This record gives sequence, structure tokens and C-alpha cells, in this order.
Amino acid sequence: MFIKTRSGPVKRAIFTVLQRMPDHARRRVQEFISVIWAQRDYSTFGLDGIDRASAGLFPLYNNLKEIGEKEYAAQVIVTLPIFHLFSPRAQVGIIAHEFAHAERASRLGSGWHEQMQSRYSAEEKLADAIAIRWGFGADISVLHNERHTTVNPIFEARVPKIMRRLNEE
Ligand SMILES: [Zn+2]
Repeated sequence: MFIKTRSGPVKRAIFTVLQRMPDHARRRVQEFISVIWAQRDYSTFGLDGIDRASAGLFPLYNNLKEIGEKEYAAQVIVTLPIFHLFSPRAQVGIIAHEFAHAERASRLGSGWHEQMQSRYSAEEKLADAIAIRWGFGADISVLHNERHTTVNPIFEARVPKIMRRLNEE
């Protein structure tokens, strides 16, 4: 697993999770995720959609030929402007949740991304359950709390400005 980001908060959260998670899971996750990196801006879809996720586990294609096939590696992408709205504790929860997705994906094997997308909300609950089993229960619950009480309201208030900026670029 390559850690390709200069963001201190992201690196601190990654190292905290790696230190605290069980050995067998750490080995599996470090093997499964090829690279973890951070993007400085939001991802958009369509004309007025902004991805609200602070991080995600995605397929990593090694070449154009692989796109459309079910053989791919795995990458974690952190969206910094959203990640930074969370406290350090919640940031640990975010990374633990993504690593839990990765551990689960490593067991699903070929086509893990399509399999997981087709049962999205069940996989979300499962990732939390795995992270909680690893000992990140308090971090996950801080994460959910902040998502509803502080992060979503701040983010929604920013959306019109973000959309104006992205449409002007
Ligand atoms: Zn998730």
C-alpha cells in the first residue's frame, strides 16, 4: 500500500488505524489496497451533483484495456475539503471504515466493486460493523454524529458556491 498524500491529517489517521487494527486485517488490507491518495477538490457528477463522501474505495485500472473488465486493483481516494470538516477522531473512523470495505472486498474477489455497488447500503453497514469489531466503535460513532450535526449543514451551505466555482472553471 503506497501512501501518496502530503496531507498531515490523512497520514495521521492512516497510521493510527494501521497501529490499532488487528494484525491479520492489517496485513490483508495493506496487501489489497495498491494506493491511498487525496484529492484537493470535490468530485462532481452531472450538472449539479457533488460527491458528499469524505473517502471511498475504488477500482484501480492499470491500463485502458482493463476498463470494463473485472480485474483491477484497489485504491482509496480521500476528498480533502470534506475530510477536513471532521475532527481527528472522526477522521480515524473514516479511514477505519474504508479499510473495512477493503478487507471485505479482498474476500469477495473478482468483481468486488460491482458486487458491492449492487448492495450499497448493506455494504455500508457491514463496513461499520467490521470497523467496530476491530475496536473503532467510538470513532465510528463520532463520525456519524459529526456527519449529521456539523459536516452536512456546513457542506450544504457551501454547495451553491462550490457549484458556481466548478461551473466557471
Ligand atoms: Zn462506505
